Amino acid sequence: MNSTHIFRIPSLGDPTDPRGPDACRYPSQPIYLPYCHSGVLMKGVRLSIGTAIAAGLREGILPDPPTTAYVMVGNECINNCAFCSQARGSEGEKDRLSRVIWPHFELQEVLAAPLSERFQRICLQCLMDPAYISLVLPDLIEELSSASGLPISVSISPVSSDNLSELKGRGAERVGIALDCASRELFPGIKGRGVGNPYTFDGCWEALDRAVRVFGKGRVSTHLIAGLGETDRELIEALAKCVEMGVLPSLFSYTPLKGTALGGSSPPLPRYRAMQVSRHLIVEGGWGSGDFQFDGSGRLIGMDEGGIPSGIPGKVFMTIGCPDCNRPYYNERPGGPIFNYPRPLTEDERSQAVEEAKRYVRTR
Ligand code: SF4
Repeated sequence: MNSTHIFRIPSLGDPTDPRGPDACRYPSQPIYLPYCHSGVLMKGVRLSIGTAIAAGLREGILPDPPTTAYVMVGNECINNCAFCSQARGSEGEKDRLSRVIWPHFELQEVLAAPLSERFQRICLQCLMDPAYISLVLPDLIEELSSASGLPISVSISPVSSDNLSELKGRGAERVGIALDCASRELFPGIKGRGVGNPYTFDGCWEALDRAVRVFGKGRVSTHLIAGLGETDRELIEALAKCVEMGVLPSLFSYTPLKGTALGGSSPPLPRYRAMQVSRHLIVEGGWGSGDFQFDGSGRLIGMDEGGIPSGIPGKVFMTIGCPDCNRPYYNERPGGPIFNYPRPLTEDERSQAVEEAKRYVRTR
């Protein structure tokens, strides 16, 4: 375990890089790191606490069990996204991602769990740990896929087409690359070079395009976080652009976490509801950003020259992601208010959610 192993580590975004502004690429020279680093990593993964309970690896009662097994992989993230407790500069709790706790498990324990009986999919949520991504992740996909027979989604930071091809070749059915911030102006200070990450707004869109070329239309997802300071117009335009590219966008509400750089508070629920309805109309209804009306500050003031259309179904307000993803309580406490429902809504919940969306569009 003390031999060395060669792998390529992503550039950290030198703006003078002759390869151009998209630094989400790999340098031409390999970098040598001790293989023992990945030897430690290979021993374990982390499961969301809900996944661990549903898999029978922890005791507990779940109001809404996860339908996907959420597995966090990698040791430490080299990135520094301003909202994230896994960021390298975060002083928050490192056992959390969003508001969920992720205990460690030996890989063998997880492989032996009755995954196919309890879940419909496995989602690997990758910290940006280049050693792990290069040396461990492809094997892990293969092992989890053959042990469970379940489809595997990989959620990962921008990587090269070669990396994506390898993940696909080793059994990943879908890939997710989070854009997170819909605002070109705010992106650098939240997820880009302003916080020491290598990413640019355009570079992340290019990464999604690369992923579509490798995995195909409809097999690539992205996340957008509502409440980072973006305007409604920016969020709606980003949603529409995703659909044009063949990328499935899902929405999260910003969840402030102790010790992270961003601070602030969750977005108001009525605004989030209006964004959920907008997403639905774009993804399911074929609407474009031109079908929405905005004021001079980019605030949503109308839809198709009116308010919220009638007949909005309850599923609009449920968690949306890969097939069979319900991500229970990532953004909220089970006691509410609930931004993304992990289960079908009652009729009362649906009509209240639609009313909240209407209230937002009415009150300008
Ligand atoms: S890449 Fe992902 S895990 Fe790493 S800091 Fe950014 S959001 Fe957090």
